[in-house]
Amino acid sequence: MERVILIKYGELTTKKGNRNFFVHTLTENIKMKLKNYHVTIKKDLSRMSISFDLEQMDEILEKINQVFGIHAYHIAHKVPSNIEDIKIEILTMLKSISFSTFKIEVKRSDKTFSMNSMELERFLGGVVLKNLEGKKVDVHHPDVLFKVELCKDYTYLYTNSIKGLGGYPVGTQPKALAMLSGGIDSPVAIYLALKRGIKVDAVYFEAMPHTSIEAREKVISLTKKLAKYKNKITLYVVPFTEIQEAIYKNGNSDYCITIMRRMMYRIMDRLCKKNKAVAIINGESIGQVASQTLNSMAVINEVTKTPIIRPVACLDKLEIIDIAKKIDTYEISILPFEDCCTVFVPKHPVINPVLEECLKSEEKFDYFEMIQKAIDNILTFSITEDDKKKYEDLL
Ligand code: ATP
Ligand code: MG
Repeated sequence: MERVILIKYGELTTKKGNRNFFVHTLTENIKMKLKNYHVTIKKDLSRMSISFDLEQMDEILEKINQVFGIHAYHIAHKVPSNIEDIKIEILTMLKSISFSTFKIEVKRSDKTFSMNSMELERFLGGVVLKNLEGKKVDVHHPDVLFKVELCKDYTYLYTNSIKGLGGYPVGTQPKALAMLSGGIDSPVAIYLALKRGIKVDAVYFEAMPHTSIEAREKVISLTKKLAKYKNKITLYVVPFTEIQEAIYKNGNSDYCITIMRRMMYRIMDRLCKKNKAVAIINGESIGQVASQTLNSMAVINEVTKTPIIRPVACLDKLEIIDIAKKIDTYEISILPFEDCCTVFVPKHPVINPVLEECLKSEEKFDYFEMIQKAIDNILTFSITEDDKKKYEDLL
């Protein structure tokens, strides 16, 4: 008897036309995720089954729990589709658990089988009552719900349902570029964007020597954690020092952050076009700091037409922290290395910036050329979850 992980497509998408694409993307993602394990993946119209080596079960389940697009799965026993094998296996499985009431639910996709679903349910229920003492059928609130999925050659039997990560398979939406700082919010924003199926790559603005190499290492570590959910994440490191220094030399200091963020968005806009990304993602949360009031966002947003997705915009900090802990980025995010925003924070950052004031400051220096130079000098890292590389050669 074989043990398999059974994944149903039921909740994958409500759009019928998309189903094949979703299932194909999910299958490819699972294959990639399990590439180092002995598994066989088979698909039919409504389910995917993954045969695995029992000794590797814990590790494989951990990997399955990192794949978006799986809402629930079952660990099932797979037996040949004949009544004798099904009968024996049901009794063996039920003998190993304690319960008083049960219900058997049969789904039959092989319509040529000698009994229909209801007949089979009754028959198997009778087998259990006859062979196991003191058990009762309860169709409304059974202690054990025993599922039988009868396909042409094989039948799957299970009593469990394990919650998956949910969301849509990564790759069912196009590419977007996310602004990844070393903070708590942006890794969570990226996680949530990946959950919607978006192919996210990351961009980090650094201002060396005002920021340290440790700050960059921190961002690389965060990217590695996020690469659990997407096979590979490209991290673009943008040298931002010259622009940042020019902003501080030429501008009204209360406006420095506003203008700095406008420059970031201008660069993001260019990078999106260059990399065929259709949206910008970031970790802004409404009201969290001066540059994230709605009025600030509007003035900052003015420099780009690229859609900006802010997955944590309406979450409380504590809600964001909960997710950060769950995805294991929190401990890295709270490491005390400053990034370019924290190094240059003005005393009184403006809460209600005025567009004209930004334009006046920006006129004072040739930011076009600086932006081009920053883009020309971007460092690119390709990061996977199990990367052993230390990136020393690139640091
Ligand atoms: P986080 O918001 O990730 O906790 P933070 O609080 O330091 O970090 P904010 O100043 O709140 O960052 O900036 C809001 C968002 O802008 C960040 O979530 C991130 O998406 C983006 N951002 C800020 N600084 C950088 C940076 N140096 N590189 C890339 N993106 C950045
Ligand atoms: Mg923040």
